[in-house]
Amino acid sequence: MKFMIAVDCEGVACVVGEPGGSLTRSLNMTFAREQATRETNAAICALFQSGATQVVVWDNHGEGANLLFDQLDSRCEIVLGTGFLRRFPRLDASYTGVVMIGYHAKAGTTDGVLAHTYCSAAYRCIRVNGAEVGEIALDGAVAGEFNVPVICVVSDQHGCDEALQHMPWLETVATKEGFGRHCAWSKHPSAVEREIEQAVEHAVATLTEKKPFRFDLPVTMELQFTSWSRCLKAMIRRSGWRLCQAKTLRKTLSTMLEWQC
Ligand SMILES: [Zn+2]
Repeated sequence: MKFMIAVDCEGVACVVGEPGGSLTRSLNMTFAREQATRETNAAICALFQSGATQVVVWDNHGEGANLLFDQLDSRCEIVLGTGFLRRFPRLDASYTGVVMIGYHAKAGTTDGVLAHTYCSAAYRCIRVNGAEVGEIALDGAVAGEFNVPVICVVSDQHGCDEALQHMPWLETVATKEGFGRHCAWSKHPSAVEREIEQAVEHAVATLTEKKPFRFDLPVTMELQFTSWSRCLKAMIRRSGWRLCQAKTLRKTLSTMLEWQC
């Protein structure tokens, strides 16, 4: 059994960033990197405990080099950096499942801690088939193209609720409850790590209930940008995307593998 753990940083315990900038440049980032590493280790441990033969960790926040790699469980392999042509590099149908750690709610979520959808400077929101979606669903649908289910999502409460709307069968661990973009009532980091172990073990024990997630075909995506200049630059750079309304590009995709954030 092979698993991939996709790790973002905003959704881990006791991480809220600070107003006026990205998490990456905040004082809270040092702790975010440490805690993302510990939460990832909890998931790795539970996966091997449950019979995994291979666990690949994909560090996907910002520039993709956030985890304290030497402190990760030495049984895992690590995918890092930027420039991959698609989400979930090299994930294929040989994988049994995906675990998401540190994920966050979609752009515009009220009281979602650090809520955004991919690059907050670029996208005001992303819609699929007319509905606003976030990274949990978009990434889940990429894994779904290979028939690989997301089995567990670790995020703030709003991110967990969002995950369950799309994939009601998966396990969730809510790390904290947002009171605003930069404030939260968080569980203790150690308590979250214990919950992750239990949730991931339960997720593997109930694998037959977990389903790959797919959007209804054809997938019509709309990218609403924060500015005209970002929108026009993207239109020049990306093939097949057409302007459909102010600052918004639309394309109908035959597969989510065409999606590059
Ligand atoms: Zn992130």
